[in-house]
Amino acid sequence: MHESSVTTALPLQNRHILIGVTGGIAAYKTCELVRRLQDQGATVQVVMTEAATRFVTTTTFQALSGRPVYTSAWESAYQSAPPNAMPHIDLTREADLIVVAPASADFIARLANGQCDDLLTTLCSAREIPLLIAPAMNRQMWMNPANQRQVNLLRDDGIEILGPGSGPQACGEVGDGRMLEPDQLLALIQAYCERPTMAQINATPNIRGVLEGRHVLITAGPTFEPIDPVRGITNRSSGKMGFAIAKAARDAGAIVTLVAGPVHLPTPEGVRRIDVMTALEMQDTVITALTHQQQDLFIAVAAVADWRPALSAAGKLKKESGADLQSLDWIENPDILASVAARPNPPYCVGFAAETGTIDDLRQLLPAKRIRKNIPLIVGNIGPDTFGADDNALLLNDDHGFEPIDRAAKSDLAKALIYRIAKRLAG
Ligand code: C5P
Repeated sequence: MHESSVTTALPLQNRHILIGVTGGIAAYKTCELVRRLQDQGATVQVVMTEAATRFVTTTTFQALSGRPVYTSAWESAYQSAPPNAMPHIDLTREADLIVVAPASADFIARLANGQCDDLLTTLCSAREIPLLIAPAMNRQMWMNPANQRQVNLLRDDGIEILGPGSGPQACGEVGDGRMLEPDQLLALIQAYCERPTMAQINATPNIRGVLEGRHVLITAGPTFEPIDPVRGITNRSSGKMGFAIAKAARDAGAIVTLVAGPVHLPTPEGVRRIDVMTALEMQDTVITALTHQQQDLFIAVAAVADWRPALSAAGKLKKESGADLQSLDWIENPDILASVAARPNPPYCVGFAAETGTIDDLRQLLPAKRIRKNIPLIVGNIGPDTFGADDNALLLNDDHGFEPIDRAAKSDLAKALIYRIAKRLAG
């Protein structure tokens, strides 16, 4: 992998974020947000409205951000003030993103109506960069139809509204309108920065011919381990990702064998498909395919059940007979991927890992799993974010590091993945 294509960077690394603070008691939480953004590698420029300075001083934000805080378009008191006296232009041109937190009802109304009566509204109007707004106000003010109208205007203008949250408010009332907590805001800002740009979306690689003549074996879908003729255990997997990869590999010129667990998906044209039910059948089929034909690439996308009942009952187990799950004996299924990787002269093996949690959890888990299975490349995704869906986001890990592939349609992700695997095979 070339250095340039490896990214271990956090989504906020080297981003310059302009934080707008307006008048609201939640401004104290923005102090923490500034710190947290900096912890993630961002630099922060704070701009405050006059009302905001009634809640938190400019000195507080100056000390936290390490930069002078702007409150007016007219000030020239700071040595670093733009010499052209145009902070409303210069500050936004330097930034990647504007986040206004807290955003008061008054600020929202002024922004929605295009008013430019202070520095913050002026620079928001003059921006070329994304704008995220974290409203904070009393629940009645939030629900006020006039306020809701303005918020909808902002949404229509493509401005991202973060929250608000719900719960006890500084005024003693309880309801919607609280500013989200710094952690929640940080997560939303990170997620926003991880969204693919239009340039990335349009940059789906041309994979035609990149696996020309290669033999590719793929497992997809779940396995189903019967307990009796009407019950069994299985994993959640629609098979969509594995089938998309089979199609992309075929488009790339490969001779593709697809070993599919029980799924309801049409066979991609030109792909040899073998349907199986259980993990043992999947393993047998994979080994047979490998024995008949040396494969260049094995991509294990299947969600294989870890356990199977030692015996599958011939007839339905009846509650009345005292049979229950606890009385069943379970046997661990073989790890198909690890067993293929352990063969002499194995194909290039790619594993998948569907985990729960966050992208940071994936970063922790993937290297260990890849090493445990002794495979060169593992592809992580957050299972609950993608089960049954037509889109997904991937995080690749090999011994050079991590490479995310941004959220996109599974068909596009499959092409992006095949492109990257083909580069590794060729290189
Ligand atoms: O250990 P875990 O189930 O998370 O590993 C996931 C990866 O290993 C996937 O690529 C999956 O297809 C493969 N696997 C397998 N046989 C198993 C369990 C997982 O091939 N019994």
